[in-house]
Amino acid sequence: MLALLAAAAILLHHADVLTMDPARPRAHAVAIVDDRIVGVGEVRELEALLPVGARHIDLGGRAVLPGFNDAHVHLGLGLSIADAVEIRGTTRASFLAEVQRAVARLQPGEWLFAISPNALPAGLDTGAPLDAITKAPVFIVTPFGGLMNGAAVFRAELRDEVPWGFVRGRHIAAALDAIARRRPVGELRQVARDFLAEAARLGVTSVQAMSDQFADLFEGLRRSGSLSCRVRFVPLGQLFRDDFHAPSWSGPAPLWVRVDGWKYFHDQEAPLERRVLKQMVRRAVVARRRTVVHVHGPAPLGRLLDTIEAEVGADRQLAGLFRVEHADTVSREEARRLARLGITVCANPTLAAEWQRPRLYPLRTLLDAGVPLCLGSDWLGRRTHRRSLDPLAGVRFVASRPGPERITVGEALSAYTLGSARAEGLEAEKGSLHRGKLADLVVLSRDPTRGAPETLADVRVIATMVGGRWVYGGF
Ligand SMILES: [Zn+2]
Repeated sequence: MLALLAAAAILLHHADVLTMDPARPRAHAVAIVDDRIVGVGEVRELEALLPVGARHIDLGGRAVLPGFNDAHVHLGLGLSIADAVEIRGTTRASFLAEVQRAVARLQPGEWLFAISPNALPAGLDTGAPLDAITKAPVFIVTPFGGLMNGAAVFRAELRDEVPWGFVRGRHIAAALDAIARRRPVGELRQVARDFLAEAARLGVTSVQAMSDQFADLFEGLRRSGSLSCRVRFVPLGQLFRDDFHAPSWSGPAPLWVRVDGWKYFHDQEAPLERRVLKQMVRRAVVARRRTVVHVHGPAPLGRLLDTIEAEVGADRQLAGLFRVEHADTVSREEARRLARLGITVCANPTLAAEWQRPRLYPLRTLLDAGVPLCLGSDWLGRRTHRRSLDPLAGVRFVASRPGPERITVGEALSAYTLGSARAEGLEAEKGSLHRGKLADLVVLSRDPTRGAPETLADVRVIATMVGGRWVYGGF
């Protein structure tokens, strides 16, 4: 029994520990028993907390941080189309020629999954031009939506639900769900394993997925002992009808896999009607269910805040159930309202071209106003390199961005760890290195807060631990 205890007890020492705990931001050692942290501080204070025979690991001055919590990934999309082909054409003719070359390589009956890093060329706003060149089902994801040809809509059995051709938001999710259900489960499991290996290599110990697609697949991986990252799935609150609501599911190990919250789309291009907004807020409040609202463009945010205020008044507990994704355009006054209501903003330093515009994604304004911030990659699969899963790349991006909205490396790291844990209501379990919390952490080659943010490029992930177990690197 003693030997068993000792095997699960670890003392990490001679480390630059960045705890993300404001009460004790720095330390030199972390003590772990089984899957929990039992102490953070100096070696001498911690030795007494550990059983005889605990493993002492000298980190040689490397940095230890809480594991990264990517608050916004698209596992559904990313895994469904992991083998996507990139189509780069920017004119209708060159785009279609590339599609034609790609479909020529398909086996009979196969789908073409493709990603266009650019917006679709003019004249491609329906699937008809694709039908004119191929009978194969084609699904192309673009930065602003997806294009399906008639064969794809037919094969996914979506004729009644999906508008012909161009699909966005909730319709993309529905299309992918239908597509993924037709793929062999062994193939999907392998793609999921590849994702987990990538996450571990990058120090990501938790992700929040923007749909509940594949929750069962990940629960299966957990049961077989091969899950190395905690996953919260946020199902869509609205699918084809206003009254659709996927249930939440906490499962046997809710700190590993759970379905929790709702996600809605309320964008400039397709805003929710006032009536639906009101319904959304009331449902969240009655069910006390965390609700993520995808907001793109200037007009919808004000209307969302008006609705929340009208329904819950100044009750921060209730207003704090809401979280705004992307929030590309936020005025100073809106930042103050968000802070007053305790509404979290989740930013995604990914669409680099958009971030070039200095007034979009005003993270400095948000933090100065006191808005809770979390960060996520908006990962869309390994083929879309512009949305890297790498948290350190995201941190470097927001901390070295030119213009007045730059934030510090320390602020970005805090948003990517504690901020994201708060955003999923789990700050008591993770997000900082603190006695009693889960032993989810990352060892970096050096303290990333030292030196200019631009030099972050040479900070490497040495090892990643989830629940007391090394899932990458290790000592
Ligand atoms: Zn997204």
